[in-house]
Amino acid sequence: MRLSRFFMPILKEAPSDAQIVSHQLMLRAGMIKQEAAGIYAWLPLGLRVLNRIEQIVREEQERAGAIELLMPTLQLADLWRESGRYEAYGPEMLRITDRHERELLYGPTNEEMVTDIFRGFVKSYKSLPLNLFHIQWKFRDERRPRFGVMRGREFLMKDAYSFDIDEAAARKAYNRMFAAYLNTFARMGLKAVPMRADTGPIGGDLSHEFIVLAETGESQVFCDRRLVEMPPPGNDVDWDDLQGVFDERTSMYAATEEMHDAARFEAETPEADRLTARGIEVGHIFYFGTKYSAPMKAKVAGPDGKDTEVHMGSYGVGVSRLLGAIIEASHDESGIIWPDAVAPFDVVVINLRVSDEAVCVACEAAVEALEAAGKVVLYDDTDERPGGKFATADLIGVPWQLTIGPKGVAEGVVELKRRATGEKQTLSLDAALELLR
Ligand code: ATP
Ligand code: MG
Repeated sequence: MRLSRFFMPILKEAPSDAQIVSHQLMLRAGMIKQEAAGIYAWLPLGLRVLNRIEQIVREEQERAGAIELLMPTLQLADLWRESGRYEAYGPEMLRITDRHERELLYGPTNEEMVTDIFRGFVKSYKSLPLNLFHIQWKFRDERRPRFGVMRGREFLMKDAYSFDIDEAAARKAYNRMFAAYLNTFARMGLKAVPMRADTGPIGGDLSHEFIVLAETGESQVFCDRRLVEMPPPGNDVDWDDLQGVFDERTSMYAATEEMHDAARFEAETPEADRLTARGIEVGHIFYFGTKYSAPMKAKVAGPDGKDTEVHMGSYGVGVSRLLGAIIEASHDESGIIWPDAVAPFDVVVINLRVSDEAVCVACEAAVEALEAAGKVVLYDDTDERPGGKFATADLIGVPWQLTIGPKGVAEGVVELKRRATGEKQTLSLDAALELLR
């Protein structure tokens, strides 16, 4: 992608209403534009990262056995009357009336709709276990939308829903999502700790929030420090038996404010390992048994031929919130530092003198070679001054910067900089390509 043809409206200064660094940097880097309180347009650079995060979430859901579908954003109010949540949900629900006076709502979550899909088609325990997920925009009319994409009103969520014949099977489904979440967040370079959590309006009795520690986080959390550094389970696990993975991470204390028990925290955690911190909730999983299947009559014939209400769980990831969480966890005074796995481009090739034919030829050869090696390249071919180009490259956080100028061309070398460490090396183009491959 040539920067001169791209659409990346960089701001020199962050608008004064952006309070936290991730929001400031997303605005400055031209990733998002606010259209209304808590409602954003995703500009090309932001969309690229959003798509990559979405794809990681999707791959890890599929690896754990969940199947993707896509439900609409608009839902019938009557469906929510069946579960009793239409009245219960309150002012966060955006209610809409169509031209036939039919009551609709913009979905804040999809338990009712997915239960309706399930009961329409699934009749036998033989179709279980089943886990359906989608990645779709949600709307919640938050009282205080703020911090950019962190607490939006319209936001992108991955939500999965599991259906099982009994509680034991449902707990296995829960553990699969538990492990999938640990792997998902680790792939994005995040250390997310599962913490016992309140179930809120979703309901149920078993629930964990996945929390990324950050000073700007909205939740107060308490946990054993050792959980933060625990590596993810990885892909080489037995997806049918993840009790060990679950037990290992839940045997140590970790709770959000609503579930915190100071006496237990002190009894269970050595003083040196007690961590009290702020955190960002990037995922939340629930097991709620028959809370929706009972009122909505989602039943299957069991092995004995008798109809049984299915046991369900739901599992959310804040896909759009994750951009904010990753930036909060990975930035410096010059800008964003994208982890390789979610970066909008792999490399930015910086042309230091676009008026110099030889430099342009060298840059274009570099871009071509990188693209041939499968790298996604941003080519800064603008006539901006070098200082401005470096500042932009640092701001937008592309993991590698490959700089070519007249002096380098004369000597047959390029400069390669790793954004995360600031480490620079001067080497031949071939050596640089070898390093990047
Ligand atoms: P919160 O406590 O932050 O309001 P929640 O508990 O109401 O979130 P869930 O119903 O658990 O949210 O939704 C699943 C995930 O969706 C959350 O873990 C979070 O990452 C994300 N999410 C929820 N609300 C928002 C929002 N307003 N903006 C962006 N992401 C959100
Ligand atoms: Mg939650």
